Amino acid sequence: MSAIKDCLFCRIIQGEIPSKKVYEDEHTYAFEDINPQGPTHVLIVPKKHIRGLKEATGEDAEAVGLCHLTAAKIARQRSIEDGYRTVLNVGPGAGQSVFHLHVHLIGGRHMAWPPG
Ligand code: AMP
Ligand code: ZN
Repeated sequence: MSAIKDCLFCRIIQGEIPSKKVYEDEHTYAFEDINPQGPTHVLIVPKKHIRGLKEATGEDAEAVGLCHLTAAKIARQRSIEDGYRTVLNVGPGAGQSVFHLHVHLIGGRHMAWPPG
């Protein structure tokens, strides 16, 4: 689905780079983060390559929304609904390092507020 050759997460979705898959459906793919920041740290990505939230358009509304609903589904399955966080880092200044939109699902521990 419109995969970008040099995009790490497109390559993971295609199975060209291995990942610990957590969930997959028509529009989203979820896998374990390689550098987990909590007992649960899953990345949920749209199968369509979208560079990031600031590049998303109205056409991407369903894909972006479904990533969040997939995060909620995984949190329910893992019984971490007492408190978890979904995070989109947008732009290098916020720590975005992979330019294929992804929702971080972090939980299984106390989540401090505000985030750093
Ligand atoms: P961000 O910094 O918001 O762009 O998030 C990128 C995330 O991707 C980081 O949490 C990394 O640990 C994670 N990551 C990078 N490469 C891989 C990989 N090959 N498999 C799984 N997670 C990865
Ligand atoms: Zn991509």
